[in-house]
Formats: sequence, C-alpha cells, structure tokens
Amino acid sequence: MEIKLSFLGAAQNVTGSRHLVEIDNLKFLIDCGLFQERQFKTRNWEPFPFAPDTLDAVLLTHAHLDHCGLLPKLAREGFSGRIYCTAATAEIARIILLDSAKIQEEDAEFKRERHRREGRKGPYPEAPLYSVDDARACVPLLSPVKYEKPVEIADGVSATFHDAGHILGSSMVKMNVARNGERRSLLFSGDVGRWDRPILRDPTLFQEADYVVVESTYGDRTHESQGTIEERLAEVVNSTVKAGGNIVIPSFALERSQEVLYYMNELLMGNQIPHLVVFVDSPMAVTVTDVFQQHPELFDEEMTQLIRQRNSPFEFPGLTMVRTVDQSKAINYISGTAMIIAGSGMCTGGRIKYHLVRNISRPESTVLFVGYQAAGTLGRQIVDGAEEVRILGQRHPVRARVAQIHGFSAHADRDELFRWLSSLQEPPRQVFVVHGEAEAARHFAGFVREKTGWNVSVPQYRDEAVLG
Ligand SMILES: [Zn+2]
Repeated sequence: MEIKLSFLGAAQNVTGSRHLVEIDNLKFLIDCGLFQERQFKTRNWEPFPFAPDTLDAVLLTHAHLDHCGLLPKLAREGFSGRIYCTAATAEIARIILLDSAKIQEEDAEFKRERHRREGRKGPYPEAPLYSVDDARACVPLLSPVKYEKPVEIADGVSATFHDAGHILGSSMVKMNVARNGERRSLLFSGDVGRWDRPILRDPTLFQEADYVVVESTYGDRTHESQGTIEERLAEVVNSTVKAGGNIVIPSFALERSQEVLYYMNELLMGNQIPHLVVFVDSPMAVTVTDVFQQHPELFDEEMTQLIRQRNSPFEFPGLTMVRTVDQSKAINYISGTAMIIAGSGMCTGGRIKYHLVRNISRPESTVLFVGYQAAGTLGRQIVDGAEEVRILGQRHPVRARVAQIHGFSAHADRDELFRWLSSLQEPPRQVFVVHGEAEAARHFAGFVREKTGWNVSVPQYRDEAVLG
C-alpha cells in the first residue's frame, strides 16, 4: 500500500491548514484554510497544486478561518464533492465564510480606491480572493456527520470525526484505509483543545494510529491555570464597579465571547460580583451564540447541568444580546457599570471602536483584553501602554485602566499536546508536527522524541511524504 501525504499549509507556520492525502488515484484534502500571516498571504493566491475537480472529498476539522477559509476558492475552481464536517462546524463555517468573503470584497474595493488615488498598481490583484457569491455557492457542499460514526468516503476508505474540545463542533479526524488485505490509519489532530475547559468536552484520546499529524501552536509553552481567570475577572469587575466606569472587552465572536459569559455567570451565581448589565454587542457573536444554544448535545457535563437547572450562561439576568444598531447606540445611555463585549477581538474593526471612543479616556473605565493581540493592531498598541491612540480618525488619550487576562486559549499547551499524543499505546510509524511556528514545532518534536523515542518530523511547506 502506498499513501502520499502532502503538506500544503500550516507547515512551520500556524495558518493555512491543508493536507492532501493520495491513495492510489483517490485524493482527499484535510482542511482548506486561509493563510493569515502577512508574509504568507500570497500563498492564498497561488493555484491549487492539484486540479480541484479531481478531489474526491474534503474533511474539515473545524470552522476557524485558517482551516476553512479557502473553501470558497476551491469550490469556485471546480470542486463539487462533499465537505465532511460536524453539523455545528457546518453552521459556524457558513457564518465565518460569508463574513470572510465580505471582508475580501471590502479589502479589494479599498485597495482599488487607494491605488487609483496613488496612480499605481499593487503586488496582488485588486479583485477579492473570493466573493460573497462564491462563499454562498460552497455552503451546500458542507455535509454534516456525527461524532464517532465512521463515514465511508471512498471504497475501502473511511473517516471518523471525534470531539477535539477546541471550539464548538471541532474535530480530530481518523482515516482508515484498507487495501489488498492491509490496513493503515492516519490521525489528524486538527486543533487540540484543553481539558477541564468551560462549555466544551475534553479532547478525545486515541489508543492507536499508524501515522499522526499533530498541531503545535503552543508546542513550546505552558498556560496559566484556569482558577486565575475567574479570580482576575472578579477583581476587574469589582474594582470597575467601585470606580463607576464601564468594562469594555474586545472579543472574538467564536468561543471567547461565550467563555467570558460562562465565567460571568459563574461569578454571579457565586455572588462574587454584584449584578450588572452585560451586553454582547457583536452581530457575529450573537449569531454564533445561537448556534451554541442549538447544540446542547455538544456541551460537557457541567454545562449540561447548568442548562438543566435553567442557569444557562447565555441567558443570565442582566445579559442583553444586541442585535440592532439602535440597541447598540442605546448602551451609551446606561448609567452605572456595564460590561460591553464587542468585536473585533484585536480592535481592528467592528463596534468595539465606538465603545473604546466612549471609554478609553475615562479613568473609571477598564479595557479588558482576553485574547492575543497581534503586532500592528490597535489592541496591541493599547496593551503595550500607548498614552494616546487613534480611533476612527481621532486621537484619544488612554486614561482607562488596561487589564489583560491570559489563559483563555482554546489550544492545548505543550504538556496537554503531549498528554494527547502519549495516549497511543504503540509507537506510531511516524508523527508529523504541523500548525506551529518553526520554533514551536521543532521544540515540540524534540520534546516528543526525547520522551518517547518515536519518529517525529517537522515538514516544510509543499513537502511530501510517502507512507508505507
Ligand atoms: Zn482552530
């Protein structure tokens, strides 16, 4: 039996997850993600290294853009097969892809306008990578599967999706191949979640696999403990209530916003903070929260218990899901302390900018960061202690308290990744470490090699491996 595995993204970098599996004349793609690091964005424009119409199926691990963001391009260029994923992934991917297409169109328009003004041409085409119509056209290809139920994706090839505990609907995918009396299994970790996190179940553990492709985003570090998150959040809320200001939280729509609500609900039920009004002012976060509520079967035991006792973190007293612009504007007229959770997570766009304008120069207010702030973003400037920032074309002195809670990560750290990998009872034939910056991937590969003596490699972009 000969299986060829090609690493077409997330190889010594974090985004653009794409792995091609070829078995005889069959072709399967595991994920089809967007490259998001500035230096790799040109790869989104490269032609696919295979003819999209010759692809038999796509297996999608989860709905993050760096795993699903190139699907509309794949469909536009001829792929018309099934994209297998869980039902929750299909619903969230639809929201994420339509939003991404809208941003692609706006960016192209903005670039066209700027180049016209400056009388020059840029290095990239001024057309969107894909349009909203392209995204809409690829949605019907999403084919929901159930966790733990093998799906026959071709003759002698099956795939099973297992809960990855990373975001709602996220999966690890195991492919089983049977040819001429021989069997091989390939295990793709997708993004590995964490143990004992709110809402989601723990990552699935596996006893055996011949080949493993494992992520390594945080392969070289360990996270802050979870107890600290609640304590830190309580301190921020209590001190801001005392000062009489607002708490403004720039937050990602998917998972992070819901997690903040979970902790707020816990603190309220435990009387660790006073009652206050909480707004989720992000149309995308509100829609994604609806998807959460439609999938209680994906929740862990504690969350299931909360729902059963009618203590849902998505419905606690004082919580408002803001759906309209008028509702958003009305937040201004609230007296006393309000918590406002709004996108975007790095303050690069969305309604958070309006809330920052109103609060960033008030010493009694707090801007609380709960996610990673990339270099060059407004969020990063504020976190780095800028004395003055430019928001919506105006300069604003930073007088509000700036706080940050680490430890909200949806990714396993080095020890958690190893916990996942080391549940295998027999050494796999080969472990491939992907989805991490070169340094993190190499560190993790070395760590695993040292602990187990297994064959571990760190493939590069466009590397191919022939699996026996
Ligand atoms: Zn992810």
